[in-house]
Amino acid sequence: MNRLALPAALALALAALLAAACGAGGGGADGRVRVVTTVSPLRSIVERVGGERVRVTGLVPEGTNSHTFEPPPSAVRAIARADLIVVNGLNLERRIIELAEANRREGVEIARLAEGAIDPDEYVYDFTFPREGGDPNPHLWTDPILAIAYAGLARDALTRADPDGATVYAANAEAFAADLRELDAAIRAAVATVPPERRLLLTYHDSFPYFGPRYGFTIIGAIQPSDFSEPSPREVAALVRQIRESGAPAVFGSEVFPSETLETIAREAGAVQVTALRDDDLPGDPGDPENTYLAMMAENARAIVTALGGDAAALDAFPPAPAGG
Ligand SMILES: [Zn+2]
Repeated sequence: MNRLALPAALALALAALLAAACGAGGGGADGRVRVVTTVSPLRSIVERVGGERVRVTGLVPEGTNSHTFEPPPSAVRAIARADLIVVNGLNLERRIIELAEANRREGVEIARLAEGAIDPDEYVYDFTFPREGGDPNPHLWTDPILAIAYAGLARDALTRADPDGATVYAANAEAFAADLRELDAAIRAAVATVPPERRLLLTYHDSFPYFGPRYGFTIIGAIQPSDFSEPSPREVAALVRQIRESGAPAVFGSEVFPSETLETIAREAGAVQVTALRDDDLPGDPGDPENTYLAMMAENARAIVTALGGDAAALDAFPPAPAGG
């Protein structure tokens, strides 16, 4: 782990300099609460709950593999200024959390949303996140009902960091929860149009283990091994056989993990390949109306339902991704 030692030492030195330069004390120059978070769905959730009172910085750039992301030294700057740090936890952002623990100002909380959203006995272990590895599948947010739990935990953490905003955060979290319940109902209605025997999910990146069961999908596997490499030829052959036997009409990949293997598997199994699923890459660009958690999940549900032969019209109320996006 020598490779990690140098950036960490550098980060500590930088933080000391910054602390000396800026002094302590919360609130940015604009008076807003400075929140540092990690992946873009979390950024979107915290922005929605914090509203105008907060300025949110997401440390993981969109379209990068969050699981292996190495934060640059510049992340320390944001961490050292933050009034609140919000992460998923469950080892999704191990390096960022190490950096946050070493460089946050005194008294600044690191809120770990996934670790408070459900009981540990409800964690999912699977192909990419095996029980022997000790880390459960961290993608709890792809279940919109668990996103309500995330929003509640974000509200509580924001209220601890900024008690004057309590009523605003409570109202924002409640409004967001109402939208999420609408999204949940729309996904249910759309999935109901997919014949039950076709409700099969095989994804490249294993990020829908909480979404799948919520909506009656059977997860028949994931292609990406636990070290985020490509599967071996033997694993590929087994997957092709599994898809043929299950009769799954489609396999799902994501743009963040382009994979020729997925293409091969789909072709050999006679299934359609869909590359549109996103777990931490929001549609559009920051500032666009569709650059939200809600739009990302609506888009995922639309892609899944359509590829499995259902009708996604129930999701029409949610903003679509931009053309070509
Ligand atoms: Zn992921």
